[in-house]
Amino acid sequence: MVTENTKILTGWGRTNPGMSSKLELPMNSDWPAMLKALAGSGVVARGLGRSYNDAAQLSGGSFIDTTIWNHVLHFDPSTGLLKVEAGASLDQLMREFSEAGFFVPVTPGTRQVTIGGAIACDVHGKNHHQDGSFTDFVTSIDLATPNGVVTLTKQEHPLLFNATCGGMGLTGVILNATLRLIRIESTYMKVDTKRTNSLDEVLALMESEDDHYRYSVAWVDSLARGSSLGRAVLTQGDHAHLSDLGKSHLKAPLEFKPKTLFSAPDLFPSGILNSLTIKAFNEMWYRKSPKKEIGAIHHAASFFHPLDVVDNWNRIYGSKGFVQYQYVVPFGQEDVVKNSLELLSKNKAGSFLTVLKRFGKSNNGLISFPMKGWTLALDLPVGPATLPRLFDQLDEMVIEAGGRVYLAKDGRVSKYRLKAMYPQLEEFKRIVESVDPTRILRSDLSRRLGI
Ligand SMILES: Cc1cc2nc3c(=O)[nH]c(=O)nc-3n(C[C@H](O)[C@H](O)[C@H](O)COP(=O)(O)OP(=O)(O)OC[C@H]3O[C@@H](n4cnc5c(N)ncnc54)[C@H](O)[C@@H]3O)c2cc1C
Repeated sequence: MVTENTKILTGWGRTNPGMSSKLELPMNSDWPAMLKALAGSGVVARGLGRSYNDAAQLSGGSFIDTTIWNHVLHFDPSTGLLKVEAGASLDQLMREFSEAGFFVPVTPGTRQVTIGGAIACDVHGKNHHQDGSFTDFVTSIDLATPNGVVTLTKQEHPLLFNATCGGMGLTGVILNATLRLIRIESTYMKVDTKRTNSLDEVLALMESEDDHYRYSVAWVDSLARGSSLGRAVLTQGDHAHLSDLGKSHLKAPLEFKPKTLFSAPDLFPSGILNSLTIKAFNEMWYRKSPKKEIGAIHHAASFFHPLDVVDNWNRIYGSKGFVQYQYVVPFGQEDVVKNSLELLSKNKAGSFLTVLKRFGKSNNGLISFPMKGWTLALDLPVGPATLPRLFDQLDEMVIEAGGRVYLAKDGRVSKYRLKAMYPQLEEFKRIVESVDPTRILRSDLSRRLGI
C-alpha cells in the first residue's frame, strides 16, 4: 500500500527506481524487536543516496533514513579521534572541524555522503595510493543487528568488522563510528597540473610521480582516438602549509564555507549528453587545462568536490539517467585500461567524466572494492542500445585481468560475474547469515546479486 511515507527511490544515476517506505527511528530503539518486526518485507539503511545504483533502496520494503542521526558525540583534539553518529555527512564534518585544523582522512568526489554510507561502501578518495580507504581510519563501529547492538573494532569481532567495512549495509545498521581525522594547516591545496598527449604518457607520469603527492587523479578524454587515445589532465596535490600561502589566503586559512551556485532543474531531456556534446565538452576541457602548472593554490572544496557546486547535477542526464561503471585491475594490466578506452571510442560511447586513479594496497574488508592497481570510472548516459553489450565486454576484460567492479556504482553486473570478481564473497555471505539468518537487512542490490 502506498502511504505518505512511501517514496520512489533511485540512486544518483536515477536508474532502477523502486518504492520503499521511509522509517525514521530513534537511535536508542529496541533494535532486535524493531528489525524482527520488519522481517517480512525487509529493510535497508539509506544515507544521502549518493551511491549510483540500487544499494540504498528496497522495493516493497522499508528504508531507514539515517540522516536524522547527525550529532557529534565526542572529539579528542589531542588524537583527532572523533565519535559521530552515522548520518552525519562529510560536508558537515568539514564545516565543523576545519577551523580547528582537522579534515576528514578520505573524501570521495562529493562531500554529500554520510559516515554510514562511507563505511558501508568503504569509499576511497584521490589518496588511496598513500592512505588507503575510509575504513582504514575507522577504529570502532556500533552496529545494530537482529541480535542487538554490537561494538566492532579490528580486535573485537574482527570478522564482523571486516564484513561491515564495504559490506553495503548488509551486516546491520551502523549507528555511530569512531574515526581519526587528519591535521591540516589550511583548507587550501598546493596543486600541480599536467596535460598529457596520450594514455601511455599519463600512466607513466602517475607511476613515476604519484608517490610524491598525497592526492592524485587524472581526467581522461574518453573519445580521443589514435595516437591521442587516453589523453588526460593529471592533477596532483597536497594540503598547503601556511608557508605556501599568500596574503589573501592567510586572512582565513582554515575557512571552509563552500556554497552551491545553483540547483539543476528537472527539465533536461535524455539525450542532451551524447557522443557529440561529450566530444565537444572533452575537447574544451582538455584545451582549457594548463599544459603544465606547478604549485597553484586551490581551495579544498574545488579540489575535492568540483561537482558539488551544482545541486542535483545528475538531472542533466535527463530522466533515463546514467550508469557509472568503475573497475579496478591490478598493476601490469594497463592494456585493460587502453582496451576499454578503445572500446568506448570505437562504439562512440562517450563518457562525460572519465577518471583514472592508482590504488594502493587493499584492506581486510571482505567485499571492499579497492585493490592495488588502476581504477577507471566512466559515466555513460543510458540510451544507446549497444550499452549493455559494451558493459558485458568490459566485465569480461576486468575478470580476465583479475579485477572487479565497484558495488557502490554498479547496477547491472550478473551474480555469476560478481563471484569471479570478489573471491571472499562466500565468506562474506556466511558472516551475514550468522548475524542475520533470515536476511532482514536486504536491498534491491543484494536481491539482484544474491548476496
Ligand atoms: C559525485 C559523486 C562522486 C563520488 N565519488 C566517489 C569516489 O571518489 N570514491 C568513492 O568511493 N565513492 C564515490 N562516490 C560514491 C559515494 O561516495 C558512495 O556511494 C557513498 O557510500 C554514498 O554515501 P551515502 O550516505 O549517500 O550512502 P547511500 O547511497 O545512501 O548508501 C550507500 C550504501 O551504504 C549503506 N548505508 C548507508 N548508511 C548506512 C548505515 N547507517 N548503516 C548501514 N549501511 C548504511 C546503504 O544501505 C547502501 O548499501 C561518489 C558519488 C557521487 C554522487
